Amino acid sequence: MIQGNHTDFVGALASIESLAKDRAANSWQEPILKSRPSKPKANLIDPHVASQIIGSSYILSRSLERPPNVVYGSILGFESLDSSGYNGPQTMTDAKKSQLKINEIFFSIQGESSWSGYPTVFIRTSGCHLRCSYCDTTYAYHDGKFMTIDEILAAVEGYRAQYVCVTGGEPLLQPAIFLLMQQLCDRGLHVSLETSGDKDCVDVDPRVKKIIDIKTPDSGEPNAFSQSNLNFIDTVTEFKFVICSERDFYWAENFAREKGLFSKSNVLYSPSFNQVEEKWLAQKILSENSSARLQLQLHKYIWSPSTRGV
Ligand code: SF4
Repeated sequence: MIQGNHTDFVGALASIESLAKDRAANSWQEPILKSRPSKPKANLIDPHVASQIIGSSYILSRSLERPPNVVYGSILGFESLDSSGYNGPQTMTDAKKSQLKINEIFFSIQGESSWSGYPTVFIRTSGCHLRCSYCDTTYAYHDGKFMTIDEILAAVEGYRAQYVCVTGGEPLLQPAIFLLMQQLCDRGLHVSLETSGDKDCVDVDPRVKKIIDIKTPDSGEPNAFSQSNLNFIDTVTEFKFVICSERDFYWAENFAREKGLFSKSNVLYSPSFNQVEEKWLAQKILSENSSARLQLQLHKYIWSPSTRGV
């Protein structure tokens, strides 16, 4: 760790950017089945590292490992927000505590999970502390506006839909999300949550269908899974693996079998778009007698893969 004055701080920032770029470059996997567009260069400080810069003093972790209690405020535009909730008097103002930073709210066809195909209102929150190699919502990392829960509920009700999907970004970074999901359920809506799997789902309303990612070795975020989420192995919860390689496929098979996911939950295998052939994954599931359910991102086949708000 390095500690120092303002001059050192500027130097440390340059080091952080360099380390973050190295990290991004090292996490990139060669395409195995499809040619893939080159990964966009990040010109931002890696949030895992940036989150450790606190006030006028700072700590620079050389390990680039995620600290146990990450400060997410800089990602979301809050002053400070830790993974367990509000972080004392120096954290968000009271006004912000009852608000969420929302990237977009839109009405479309659900493209994932066992609810695929249903007309659904999507609430996409802003901010994510991870950087998966295949992320298709990078625009949600920072952009968004603060909305009260009442404003969000009014926007949802305007669509007169029965299904609502809370997605991101990582929705569970913002404490007010739990009350929002509860209030959506109270209105009789079918609510689903798409989460990275890195945050504990214990405070999620039990009426919410959880779609929990399990990040594979080639996702770029291989350590991003909270083992506590294995407490939600049940017939309602769905566990999703985005498969980026053959190695990922066998890793997912082993994980799902070892943890007993196949017997109690829906296990979804989704081919990393533009990286893994859908047919290859289908054949792999068949030839290996897997109990996983092939999931294609339906919306990417209906509309252009890069279209937002669908
Ligand atoms: S968890 Fe989701 S939003 Fe966050 S980087 Fe990964 S794919 Fe993107």
